[in-house]
Amino acid sequence: MRLKLLLPPVRPDVYDEPTACPYKGCKGTHFHLRQEWQKPVRDTLLTQVVAHRHECLRCRRTFRVYPTGVSKVPTSARLRGLSVLLYVLGLSYGAVSLALEALGHPLSKTAVYNAVQAAGEKVPGLRREAVCLPTGKAKVAAMGADLTSVLCKGKWLSVGVTVDVQEGIVLTVDIVDNAEAQTLKEWVQQVAEAVEAEVLVSDDADGFKKAADDNGMQQQVCKSHVKRNTEAWVEKMKPQLVKDADGSLGAIEVKPEQAVADCEELLRLIRERQPGAEAEAMLETIHRRYMAAAPPKRNGEEKVEMSLAYRLRLFSLDRWNLWGRLTLYRTWRDEDGGFLDGTNNATERAIGWWVKERYRTMRGYKREQSVLNVSRLIAWAGGQLNTGGADLAAVIN
Ligand SMILES: [Zn+2]
Repeated sequence: MRLKLLLPPVRPDVYDEPTACPYKGCKGTHFHLRQEWQKPVRDTLLTQVVAHRHECLRCRRTFRVYPTGVSKVPTSARLRGLSVLLYVLGLSYGAVSLALEALGHPLSKTAVYNAVQAAGEKVPGLRREAVCLPTGKAKVAAMGADLTSVLCKGKWLSVGVTVDVQEGIVLTVDIVDNAEAQTLKEWVQQVAEAVEAEVLVSDDADGFKKAADDNGMQQQVCKSHVKRNTEAWVEKMKPQLVKDADGSLGAIEVKPEQAVADCEELLRLIRERQPGAEAEAMLETIHRRYMAAAPPKRNGEEKVEMSLAYRLRLFSLDRWNLWGRLTLYRTWRDEDGGFLDGTNNATERAIGWWVKERYRTMRGYKREQSVLNVSRLIAWAGGQLNTGGADLAAVIN
C-alpha cells in the first residue's frame, strides 16, 4: 500500500485572528487583545506558545485564541498527528505510546486511541449517507462494490466498500447488516444515486446482479472471478464427463467427447470474451444440447443428485446469462472516453490496503464505530496520493 501523510504544523506566530464573536447570540465583530500569556504545550518541537485573550467589544466577554496547531488541550495537533501517523502505519495503540515515550514525547495509550478515533470521525465523506466525489469529478460513472468481514467483539461484521473503479479511489466504507439481496440493493442504490453511477462492477455473486438490475444499472462482473470459477468447474467435471460417469449424457444422446468439447469451448469463450453474435450463438447452441437433461427428482425423503447432463445444462445457461455482464467493458465508454478493465481489482485492492492490512495485526475491534473510524481514516489517507498527500491537519484540530 502507498501512503503519504503530512503532519499538522504548529506555527507559534500565526494566529487565526477573530472575525466574529464565538459566543452564541452575539454578533460582535470588533475585539480588543486583553492579555498574552505563555501556554505550556506538549509538542515534538516546542514546549510553550503565546496564547491570546481577546475581549468582544460588543458583549464584553473574553475568549482565547491560540496559534496554529495549538488548542485548549495540552497536546499540539502535531504530536497527536504523529500518534495517528504511527497508528496508520501499523503500530498498535500501546506500541505508539511506547514509541512516543522513547522519542521523548510521552502520550498515553488512551490519548493515542482518542486521537485516532477523533481523526476517524472527522474524515470527510466516505460514508453512504454523506458521499464525497473524488477531487475534480462531477460524477462516478462506474462504481465497484464488494464486501469483506472483520471481527468485532467476537462477532463477524460485513464491511461494504465502494470505489470509483476508474480512479481506484474509495467512495464509502460502511457496515452493512448482511449480504442479502435487499440489503445490497439499498446500499448500492444509496451510493449510486449520490455519485450518478450507471455501471456496477462486482464479483458474480447473485446479490450484486440483483442490486444492479433492481437499480437499473449496467453491470460488469469481474472477468478474473468468472475465468477462475469457469476453469475450476471444467477441471472438476471433465474426468466424469469423459466417461459419462452416470450415463446421463447417453440418455440425451450426447457423446462424452461432445460434452468435453463443449466445456473447452465454454472455457475458450470465457477466456477470450469477444462480444458479438457469434459468441452468443455458440453459447446458445451449447446450452440447447443439454436442454433435454432432466432435473433431479425427489425420491421420497431421499434427494437424488443432479446428473452430469443436468449440471451442464445449468452451467451453460449460467454462462450464457452472464455473457453480457462479462463483456460489457469491451464496448462501454464514459462521456470522456474512459473505459473499464473488466475486473473489480480496484475494489479488492482498496479492501486489502485500507481495511484488511491494518486489521491483520489486530485481534479484532471492540466497537463498531472504531471499525469505521480506522478504515475510513486509512482509506481517506490512501485517497490523497494525487493531491500531494493526506494533510492530517484536515482531521486533527
Ligand atoms: Zn460578543
